[in-house]
Amino acid sequence: MKLTEARAALKKYFGYDQFRPMQAEIIERVYCGKDALVLMPTGGGKSVCFQIPALTMEGACVVVSPLIALMKDQVEGLRANGVRAAFLNSSLDGTAARQTEDDFYSGRIDLLYVSPEKVVSQNFLPLLQRAKISLFAIDEAHCISAWGHDFRPEYAQLRFLKQQFPAIPMIALTATADKVTRRDIIEQLALQDPETFISSFDRPNISLEVRPGQKRIEQILNFIKQRPVQSGIVYCLSRKSTEELAVKLMGKGIRAACYHAGMSDSDRSRIQEDFINDKTPVICATVAFGMGIDKSNVRWVIHYNLPKNIESYYQEIGRAGRDGAKADALLFYSYSDVAVLQDIISKNESENTEIQLAKLERMKQYAEALACRRRILLSYFSEDLGHNCGNCDVCSNPPQFFDGSVIAQKALSAVYRMREESGIGMLIDVLRGSGKKEIFEKGYQDLKTYGAGRDIGYGEWQHYLHQLINLGYIELAPDRHHVACLTPASHRVLFEGEKVALVRMATVRERMDAEQAKVKVTKERQRSRGELFEELRQLRLRLSQKQGIPPYLVFSDATLEEMAAAIPRDEWDLQDISGVGEKKMQQFGVEFLKVINDYARRTGIPDKPAVVRNPPPVKMPKPKPPATLQVTLEFFQEGAKPELIARERNLSVGTIYEHLAQLIESGEDIPIRRLATSGEIQMVKSALRGLEGPPYRLKPIYDACGGQIRMQLIRMILAHLEEKKAEK
Ligand code: ADP
Ligand code: ZN
Repeated sequence: MKLTEARAALKKYFGYDQFRPMQAEIIERVYCGKDALVLMPTGGGKSVCFQIPALTMEGACVVVSPLIALMKDQVEGLRANGVRAAFLNSSLDGTAARQTEDDFYSGRIDLLYVSPEKVVSQNFLPLLQRAKISLFAIDEAHCISAWGHDFRPEYAQLRFLKQQFPAIPMIALTATADKVTRRDIIEQLALQDPETFISSFDRPNISLEVRPGQKRIEQILNFIKQRPVQSGIVYCLSRKSTEELAVKLMGKGIRAACYHAGMSDSDRSRIQEDFINDKTPVICATVAFGMGIDKSNVRWVIHYNLPKNIESYYQEIGRAGRDGAKADALLFYSYSDVAVLQDIISKNESENTEIQLAKLERMKQYAEALACRRRILLSYFSEDLGHNCGNCDVCSNPPQFFDGSVIAQKALSAVYRMREESGIGMLIDVLRGSGKKEIFEKGYQDLKTYGAGRDIGYGEWQHYLHQLINLGYIELAPDRHHVACLTPASHRVLFEGEKVALVRMATVRERMDAEQAKVKVTKERQRSRGELFEELRQLRLRLSQKQGIPPYLVFSDATLEEMAAAIPRDEWDLQDISGVGEKKMQQFGVEFLKVINDYARRTGIPDKPAVVRNPPPVKMPKPKPPATLQVTLEFFQEGAKPELIARERNLSVGTIYEHLAQLIESGEDIPIRRLATSGEIQMVKSALRGLEGPPYRLKPIYDACGGQIRMQLIRMILAHLEEKKAEK
């Protein structure tokens, strides 16, 4: 099996021109009949690693996946691409299950998704023995490890697969696996001499932002208003807060719903369906939401509260932008969130309290970072980005330091005079000279520092005090309700004149200006491209309803964006758009082209200088091709495809291709893109790499392409490649 075929299948079924890093290597490994362990982030493109072998190798690929809720979606998505896929799990009734089993061992299925319960059940082994199997793929393989967070007992029994079918390659895939879990996976599945592939965990299309957690609801409303048709998730800490937030958003006319484990199954699945189908774009949820969802067009994720650790945070923001198009992750951060989480973790009294607290500390450091956030995230996963990302708030708004010594002195002296007995909130109240009852009860109004920081707002004080804590000038006593205490460093500031550099907080005004500027840019971009995008989105919605599949399975946001930018005017242009495979071209091509062409006509975008019906006489005419070639040429210039010309002229398709090849070789201008898909061109290009030449012999190329491309077409592609080389 050759990679050229893999590439052709990638274009044919999924409409993509290139493999992402590692996908090709993994596929090649499978072609060699060997085992592999694959670690890629959510949305990294794991599925392609077994789907392409499934489509190009003989027999069916059996995919074990614990996410039953996801199977139906995945299979629907594959079928929409023309792939023969099916699933077996407890949700099927007897008849449907028997039909699928029948299809499976009769070789009518290329990909069979199975739940672990089903795989280890009594009657499944005989079925496996009867069928022809190309590959086993164990998805979410971390479920095998008792150390992991998702342990599935059935996974621990999967070892029998390798014992029963030692010659069939197996790949295990997961998005989360530390070293221990990795070893567990390899051992328990009994993988033979496996190669481990670890791809980058970077998701560069997700922009990262952290904001102080003040007036969160107002900020969220603003955020959503700027993204009126986008789907997104707001993660909250408690069930109650998901409900309250959803009500508030709905009160402002936003189509929102809440989702948490306390709701009935039917409510939850209805809400999930509506989200997937773009009916309810905004979900306020606890972290359980999103796990069983494959929706690729989640455009943003907001964390209303600080997550417990970076692993969870990264997994949750990873649910945005799986299609690779631009997405946003916004985290609200306040010190009180940290205190709440510390309490929760400490009260839990599990063995690894220490570890969990340390993980929380890393999360907090991320939120308070003064350096590129993506670098911090990736370094947590032992990966070095090597440069600043340019797509996080720190990169786009680098911190500005100033001499904060006076501010520090005021704060520290207040702590001192309050005898290290109060928390941060009270400290700010005293500094700002608040009239609260508690202050008078304690007599703080008589302190010298009472009101000494009136000129600074509450939020700004929070911002500075966080920094003083991080710099080690203030300590919060965990054993005394987090009251603020002094440290040796604070003595140096108070009594020895040590200088303190602080980072300025952008004022609310500046923040709003920055946001407005961003909105202006997006609005302008939207004006130029958005109108067509919106029309395409509406068409996608209509088609998805007609087909009974979620909109993102018709085409992804990324594909629609590319269409709106490239404005393809005919089938040949359209098939070059990433994400347009053969089946979808057939099924939806005409309708999308109609919308695009209508739009182009309406807005005055000129037609391509395509069809020349009566070519003007040229001064130095080329020798005219023989009559029969001439007729084919004229048909072709009028836009007909070879199949149509063949039908019209009552000739074989092969003959027409032969004509066209001769025409190209005699120097006629025949655009190759109208004849070959980019997948086919790719395939020929890759084939050439392994062959002697130029000049090349056709037969070896034909063989290297697995006999899938006509000889004449190969000739034309070669001529085209030659010409391109000559141009350079
Ligand atoms: P994972 O299983 O790792 O979470 P998926 O396999 O679902 O990720 O892929 C995530 C998204 O990326 C899907 O929309 C998929 O179609 C797309 N994708 C995968 N491979 C490629 C590729 N080579 N080129 C473009 N898009 C790809
Ligand atoms: Zn950055």
